[in-house]
Amino acid sequence: MTRSSQPREIPGPCPPNPLARALLDQLGRPAALSDASGRVVAMNAAFRRETQYGEASHPAITLVNGSLRDDAGQPLPLGVVTTGLIHPEGLLAPWRLVELASRNVSLPELAHRFSALAGGAALLQLELREQGGLLHRLGVEHIEAILNGLEARLLDTLPPGATLCRSRSERLMALFPWHHEAKELQRQAATWQAILSTPLAVGDRMVVPVLSLGLSRSPQDGQRFELLLESSYQALARAHNQPVPSACVAMPPGREQGQVRLLAHPLALAIDQDKLRLLYQPIVDMAAGRIEGVEVLCRWEDPVLGTISPSDFIAVAEATEQINPLGSWLIDQVFTQVRRWQSLPVGIRYASLNISPLQLHHEELVQALRNGLVRHGLQPSQVMLEITEDQTIETCSLARERLLTLHRLGFPLAMDDYGTGYSGLQRLSTLPFSAVKVDRSLIGSIETDRLQQAMVQGAVDLQNTAGLRVVVEGVERPGQRRMLLDLGCRLGQGFLFSRPVPAQRLEELLNLPSLPIRTT
Ligand code: C2E
Ligand code: MG
Ligand code: MG
Repeated sequence: MTRSSQPREIPGPCPPNPLARALLDQLGRPAALSDASGRVVAMNAAFRRETQYGEASHPAITLVNGSLRDDAGQPLPLGVVTTGLIHPEGLLAPWRLVELASRNVSLPELAHRFSALAGGAALLQLELREQGGLLHRLGVEHIEAILNGLEARLLDTLPPGATLCRSRSERLMALFPWHHEAKELQRQAATWQAILSTPLAVGDRMVVPVLSLGLSRSPQDGQRFELLLESSYQALARAHNQPVPSACVAMPPGREQGQVRLLAHPLALAIDQDKLRLLYQPIVDMAAGRIEGVEVLCRWEDPVLGTISPSDFIAVAEATEQINPLGSWLIDQVFTQVRRWQSLPVGIRYASLNISPLQLHHEELVQALRNGLVRHGLQPSQVMLEITEDQTIETCSLARERLLTLHRLGFPLAMDDYGTGYSGLQRLSTLPFSAVKVDRSLIGSIETDRLQQAMVQGAVDLQNTAGLRVVVEGVERPGQRRMLLDLGCRLGQGFLFSRPVPAQRLEELLNLPSLPIRTT
């Protein structure tokens, strides 16, 4: 690493007091202190050695949003972990301890780093999957080389501040700061898996790493490191049990075996006894306020367990193979409902049904949909199928074949959660999707964020050039609607138009000439 420019005066650095400096020098590992403005004001010898930066000699390095930058604002290729220092009198000292997130720390060291991530953390376990004895044949040396390559990729890919740990000969762990919800981690995990699974040069050959990933979050999956570790092991075990390479996130709230054990039986009963409820969220022509279709969203309110979110119980259904009976029940309910709406004077063009990628592994899905059409006398164009694209579809020929069968039967297919994780443009050209549901994370600040505007514009171009139907999800504010209309988006879904509502309420909404839409 080289220093890039001439010394430069930065106003008002706050150098550490002798106590803080003594602490720094006592630490055997690379460490530095940053002041309240983020500027690095002191470092120990190990830090200087490792980074080749000096404290007195400028240019200054500064801590910005958890990563180090040089004085030109460029991020340095150094993962760091930061901790607030507590003054002996209990006050928060004005300095933060900045430690390098070096590779291959030991497990106890990882636990120590965990205690510094009080704001939220995630733990990733990554394990190579055996591929017909290939790993065995490659031998220890090559496995080592693959893991080294994966380590380097992980450090480039994971959020700043990641620490790696080699837990077993064929397994890696990474701890990193994380403040977002489980669904976001799942999306990111699919992206990381795709990046990590690209061919890797090992000796004189290229190897495609085949990986299982298990992830857990703190504090949700464990406030103590051991619990977080345990949850990630369980998520990894679930990933290993999938028929294709997968990334699994621990199921909230926490101990996933417990979650499955707790919910599996009540869920089976709820499906069997018709206790689940369906809500319908309008898909709206945003200019006219007219309802064009609805997305079907499943709800479970258990008298004892309370309200369980679909993200949780769908995961339990997937883990216990109940996803098929649940799917069949849902298809029957929705087809009955659509048939009823067909007979109303103000009808609805289609209902959009969420399909778990795991359902694509089973024959039941195609059977249930085909039978539903016959039994209820519906056209396939009246039922759109939303699929959250994941690696399953990419790598499993059976799942792809099922998608093609559904397409041939005439069901319109929508790529759900577009713009996140694994769902992307290249997938659209290889799979028979006719609609795209743009994830709400892509419009969170679309009024001002040029990148979000450009990404949504890209989806609108698809609509115009390839005839894809584009629906933007999560429209909550009038400003978002205005910007989306300016960008040429026609269809939207979100709380601004209507929350998911029961069938009866939907019928009332259908009777309105147009939905009342807040404009300020
Ligand atoms: P999804 O398919 O992306 O569904 C959209 C989610 O966004 C729904 O969450 C909906 O309530 C929420 N939403 C809609 N408009 C807004 C908005 O303006 N702001 C915000 N913040 N959220 C909005 P929900 O109902 O909790 O469902 C979560 C996920 O669970 C769904 O994501 C879907 O992947 C899955 N899911 C729900 N019902 C089913 C089902 O019947 N079968 C399957 N396989 N999955 C389901
Ligand atoms: Mg959906
Ligand atoms: Mg979605």
